[in-house]
Amino acid sequence: MSSQTNPSPAESTSPHATNFIRNIIEEDLQSGKHKTIVTRFPPEPNGYLHVGHAKAICLDFGLAEDYHGTCHLRMDDTNPGKEEPEYIEAIKKDVRWLGFDWGEKVYCASDYFDQLYEFAERLIQKGKAYVDDSTPEEIRAGRGTLTEPGVNSPYRERSIEENLDLFRRMRAGEFPDGAKVLRAKIDMAHPNIVMRDPTLYRIRHQTHPHTGDKWCIYPMYDFTHCLSDSIEGITHSLCTLEFENNRPLYDWVLEEVGVECRPRQIEFSRLNLESVIVSKRKLLQLVKEGRVNGWDDPRMPTLAGMRRRGYTPESIRLFCERIGISKAENWISYSLFEQAVRDDLNPKVPRVMAVLRPLKVVIDNYPQDQVEEFEAPYFPDDPPKMGSRLLPFTREIYIEQEDFMEDPPPKFFRLAPGREVRLRRAYIIKCQSVVKDETGRVIEVHCTYDPETKGGNAPDGRKIKGTLHWVSATHSLPCEVRLYDRLFAVDHPATREDVNFLDELNPNSLEILKEARVEKSMAGTPAQRWFQFERSGYFYTDPDTDAQHLVFNRVVTLKDTWAKIVQAGKGRA
Ligand code: ATP
Ligand code: MG
Repeated sequence: MSSQTNPSPAESTSPHATNFIRNIIEEDLQSGKHKTIVTRFPPEPNGYLHVGHAKAICLDFGLAEDYHGTCHLRMDDTNPGKEEPEYIEAIKKDVRWLGFDWGEKVYCASDYFDQLYEFAERLIQKGKAYVDDSTPEEIRAGRGTLTEPGVNSPYRERSIEENLDLFRRMRAGEFPDGAKVLRAKIDMAHPNIVMRDPTLYRIRHQTHPHTGDKWCIYPMYDFTHCLSDSIEGITHSLCTLEFENNRPLYDWVLEEVGVECRPRQIEFSRLNLESVIVSKRKLLQLVKEGRVNGWDDPRMPTLAGMRRRGYTPESIRLFCERIGISKAENWISYSLFEQAVRDDLNPKVPRVMAVLRPLKVVIDNYPQDQVEEFEAPYFPDDPPKMGSRLLPFTREIYIEQEDFMEDPPPKFFRLAPGREVRLRRAYIIKCQSVVKDETGRVIEVHCTYDPETKGGNAPDGRKIKGTLHWVSATHSLPCEVRLYDRLFAVDHPATREDVNFLDELNPNSLEILKEARVEKSMAGTPAQRWFQFERSGYFYTDPDTDAQHLVFNRVVTLKDTWAKIVQAGKGRA
């Protein structure tokens, strides 16, 4: 049913609020600088994509869609050793899942290794690049600081012939890793450190997932990225702000290599989401150390984890649309993301009843073996949308433990001794007595029902403030419910020098409820379906679900409960 109501990607990303990147594109199209636009999303396949990447994907692919251009998917695979085929497949799956399509346009930076090598020789021949035998430490030390200029390398004035010869021998495998690098010859006193003779190629005797053992020298990001953009005819190369200082180098390489196509790099601010980490390196650490159950753990901010949790691609796109694009660095509240999830699921998802932490209620005056069935629409506000199901009502039912209090405070309108509540769509019941275990905990509540209140309405018009959800004890199904909360207990994880980010993990990020019950109509529900459990939240059947065993992930609560938890002192620093 979600496919009918889900917006198509084009609808959901348009009409857009304008932003500075759109303004640039529109100018370029109006002035005739470009007839059509070409963007790209260039992940490094060294981990799974995360929600930060989603922002970039929605921007790169979304703009191409809106302006009827193209967006390429390009694996930025210049680091053999860290990059794996598993990640490449995961990236493709995740981009598709988000709702975007690169058509035929899937590339790898490694597709261009031959061309890039030719470009490097061209720079050498122009006297714009040289082979440096300095150690990595010497190169680092010679680069200077923000306040001090760098110093020229002793190898900087090698002849073009010598440089060409050495570079070819680097390629031929004559030198070990780290023995030499190829550097651009720019300016060691440049105010921008990136421009102080950056490394273009390094030696790495390592098998590449795509090119195998063909190469033992690999191009650096700054050299590869701009030239790959140019080779592909990218018009607007969008990246995050940390690349702002690299833009002069991006332009320098294109100019000095003398390529015809000169893409324009434009930077925007990264997504920083409160209580979330968006760093592949740290996410990999969580996976490797077993802090989470893999890349697709539903608490992970990876797209694989978000999918498994039950977040919808539409909600992620809606969120990206709402946060917009700018150059301002800021932190976005997780609540804003969760609101997008609720707004997406609310009109799409059927309502059912489930009791997460059951407390048995025995209705003493209800006939022992009687079963009544109450019709309940899946969409109470729009019954024709999906029709209805029957809720069996019996003498023994379950309600939530938190819906009963023996000694309630004022304003507790749920069940308590001597009090009446409405069981949703069934009857009004009154609490008569309780049964306790040896520790004094209430384990059973005895009630009477009022047969005159069928459907839940009192004919005499008496006011009943509390309405509880419930399931039949004998005509409901056991299930497992996994309650997820923020993975980190602080707003800005991994930002403090004095704290290890692992110590900022939320110890209560997962609670597994094995005693939960759902209404009988849920029998046979397959994996990957969404429901609203009335009064509890939105839930999704985990892939672990099978015919014998229903497993629900809590996607999101109905209301923003995090603020309350924080007030109670459980969370954030
Ligand atoms: P990480 O720090 O997680 O490893 P990265 O930038 O190294 O991220 P890439 O695979 O190089 O990861 O990223 C691909 C694209 O996604 C880049 O254009 C990058 O700017 C963008 N991107 C990465 N993280 C974010 C983020 N948090 N917000 C927006 N865009 C992002
Ligand atoms: Mg990167």
